[in-house]
Amino acid sequence: MLFSEKTALVTGASRGIGRAIALAFAKEGANVAVIYAGNSAAAGETVEELKALGVKARAWQCDVGDFAAAGAVCKEVIEEFGGVDILVNNAGIIRDGLILSMKEADFDAVVNTSLKGAFNMTKHLYSHMMKKRRGRIINMASVSGLMGNAGQANYAAAKAGVIALTKTTARELAGRGVTCNAIAPGFIRTDMTDKLTDKVKENTIAAIPMKRMGEPEDIAAAAVFLASDAAGYITGEVLRVDGGLCI
Ligand code: NAP
Repeated sequence: MLFSEKTALVTGASRGIGRAIALAFAKEGANVAVIYAGNSAAAGETVEELKALGVKARAWQCDVGDFAAAGAVCKEVIEEFGGVDILVNNAGIIRDGLILSMKEADFDAVVNTSLKGAFNMTKHLYSHMMKKRRGRIINMASVSGLMGNAGQANYAAAKAGVIALTKTTARELAGRGVTCNAIAPGFIRTDMTDKLTDKVKENTIAAIPMKRMGEPEDIAAAAVFLASDAAGYITGEVLRVDGGLCI
């Protein structure tokens, strides 16, 4: 198993992509700290599924955008699991709308969750990973952060920021045995994309060379690779997993 005796902290692991990553890591032997925003039922189900795979798992409710709360959770996870080897900054939300109609609060909420959340968790685990002289940080970006996307000024800007944060973290920690990479998913079947209208879904699928949505497991497979020893010489990279959408 790739991650025996290792601990992964995955934000946004109650549902969707984060949940698939948590389960894929557990199948490789990792203990998993599940961070979620408010859906206790979903987080509880994920934890039970993780435990059924024979690993240690616990959920923490925490707004990753809250600096102090993020710090408190990181401290508790280190105490409970004995350390963190893999950090996945996956928590994210959408509040779509053209700039003309986008509310300030919607801009702030999206940036606060995706970008500041990733900064907060990285900051609070930075010295811990530095002292261990090994670690993996994986940030969830998006093809929107690479291309921009009409109606997603908040989200695209946050994800572009996540990519710059990834490259900066990679440069700062490369000499300490810690890698930091981003995954840029395309159009993945989760609650986030379920909210879109059928028309938007049809148009998006038509633009994907592979002519289908991705599954959360497609992203989890990339996360397993980036967290593994096999990816030890890869840092500061952005791995698109998008069925060719962004070629
Ligand atoms: P999702 O199904 O909506 O799940 C979002 C997860 O994030 C949930 O676990 C949620 O917790 C958690 N979360 C939301 N706000 C949070 C906060 N402030 N603090 C802590 N946790 C928070 O989303 P998804 O589709 O799996 O997306 C996961 C990541 O992939 C996001 O960063 C998203 O931007 C990115 N992404 C997704 C797609 C796609 O097509 N789905 C494409 C590109 C990138 P609760 O369950 O408690 O609400």
